[in-house]
Amino acid sequence: AKDSGRNTLCFYHSGLTIQVRERLELENDLRRALARNEMQLFFQPQIHLHSGEVIGAEALIRWQHSERGLISPDRFIHIAEENGFIVELGEWIMRQACMTALQLNRDRSNPLVISVNLSPRQFADPEISAMVLQALSDTGCHPHWIELEITEGILMDRRYDVMKSLQDLKEPGISIAIDDFGTGYSSLGYLTRFPIDTLKIDQSFVSQMLESQQSAVLIRTIISMASSLSMHTIAEGVETSEQAYKLATMGCEQAQGFYYGRPMSITQFERYLQRQTNF
Ligand code: C2E
Ligand code: CA
Ligand code: CA
Ligand code: CA
Repeated sequence: AKDSGRNTLCFYHSGLTIQVRERLELENDLRRALARNEMQLFFQPQIHLHSGEVIGAEALIRWQHSERGLISPDRFIHIAEENGFIVELGEWIMRQACMTALQLNRDRSNPLVISVNLSPRQFADPEISAMVLQALSDTGCHPHWIELEITEGILMDRRYDVMKSLQDLKEPGISIAIDDFGTGYSSLGYLTRFPIDTLKIDQSFVSQMLESQQSAVLIRTIISMASSLSMHTIAEGVETSEQAYKLATMGCEQAQGFYYGRPMSITQFERYLQRQTNF
């Protein structure tokens, strides 16, 4: 049986080896990327729709690989999740986000909130809430300056005590958002049972809202549901003023997308904020 397995590998030789080798290389490089300073957090502005004010930013990771150039998180986050490296990477992301929040809010009267993505795999670590709270206290970041983005699926995952972790995070004042909302299967029951502050309307609905009645209805439903549950709403993937206008008339509170700004470095984001206040 072993021999035939080896033969099969030989048979697929050309395609497989390249893919496998690339994957192995990425995996190795990933473990070294932090020490080599190749990881960077980018920030995408989040806007209050009525006032037009910047209220925060979502932290999005970027990997500037020494040979391969910029690698998108869609290409490496799943690898980090599979091999467990996400725990170490997630802690680095959390600390960077806290330091950024501190830097941005140093002389602001209305503090910005930095949204940090948590991967479902990070909840496998029972110390996840301890890790986040430690990052806050080590950096001196106020819990109100951080929002955590989780996906619907994790609320239903019975392997981990997600409820306990979320309560421990909520207790000092960190807020919790459901990312890509509308694409998963969470029932109203789950939404009310967990301490959720914000629903992030998935960009697939926003991109179709002007053409598809169905997407518009879905967005309306999410907004009215959020409002009855006293939750905030933010629409992601807003690319045009028409979308922004319609979302505002529908009662959506916040928006994020290329229309307002692409994910940018901290230096660019500080300049972006400067421009907003000068207008
Ligand atoms: P996500 O959390 O849903 O992030 C939104 C993605 O949409 C980002 O892609 C962002 O650049 C992109 N986007 C923002 N505005 C627009 C727009 O107007 N139009 C379009 N077409 N796209 C827009 P990005 O940065 O490539 O991230 C992809 C995914 O990788 C994220 O999806 C998230 O699931 C994951 N990810 C990114 N950074 C992190 C991180 O720090 N930790 C974890 N665990 N996952 C991350
Ligand atoms: Ca997100
Ligand atoms: Ca999203
Ligand atoms: Ca997504």
